[in-house]
Amino acid sequence: MFYVVYTDLDGTLIDEKYSFKAASQALETLKNRGFPLIFCSSKTRGEILFYREKMGFSDPFIAENGAAVYIPKGYFDFPIPGAQSVEGFSVLEFGLDYESLFRRVEKILIGLGIEYETFKGMSVSELSLDSGLSLMEAALAKDREYSVIFKAECEDSILTEAFRGEGLIYTRGARYHHVMGAHDKGVSVNALSSLFRMVYDEVLTVGLGDSLNDLEMLASVDLPISVRRPDGSIEDFGVKGVLETEGVGPIGWNERILGILSEKTDLI
Ligand SMILES: [Mg+2]
Repeated sequence: MFYVVYTDLDGTLIDEKYSFKAASQALETLKNRGFPLIFCSSKTRGEILFYREKMGFSDPFIAENGAAVYIPKGYFDFPIPGAQSVEGFSVLEFGLDYESLFRRVEKILIGLGIEYETFKGMSVSELSLDSGLSLMEAALAKDREYSVIFKAECEDSILTEAFRGEGLIYTRGARYHHVMGAHDKGVSVNALSSLFRMVYDEVLTVGLGDSLNDLEMLASVDLPISVRRPDGSIEDFGVKGVLETEGVGPIGWNERILGILSEKTDLI
């Protein structure tokens, strides 16, 4: 069996202090076994590259909630249908570009009379203070290509309805509000999984996430895992066959990935 592991970052593989140390054993095991770890996050290309390098992986990744799949050149020994070439990657693009997206988001929020502050609107130091990210990570987080992230005091249901009415997708991440074009993590996961299935006969896709913006990713994998949050709660994704973790964040991640890789196929 060839395992392909898709994972969210915030609240899933990295904890509130942006540490993934608790998942070290599972990460090493994945690496030693040669199974790809695909970061699939609301984070930007730059932020994901930062964590990917820090954890020592070099597999494809999915940025900004499914807006783009980045496949290192030469990773697959065939041309990727529909991909664009961007700085060493073949990129499958599903997202709307930032500027036109932002103009639409701004209009809706102003129409609702909601005060908001976007990542791009904050200075690097403001964002660092607000999010707990280091200055360097805050700079990477601001560099959004396909999604608008903002903070505002507003009911999720009001925002969901307003953005949906305009053909945009709204999701609530662990800390902020996210808006993007009509794409989600699921579309990108499926596109990438189909490439792995062209190479390997028996692919088993695993997905780990902790909040609603992971729903489509979990619905698109063979083995979905809901990761426990710091307050002990767990998202009820309503996805068939979803497994839950006992441990919180990367502790739970470690526990489930080690369990799966130990070939306890009764889990599946
Ligand atoms: Mg998360």
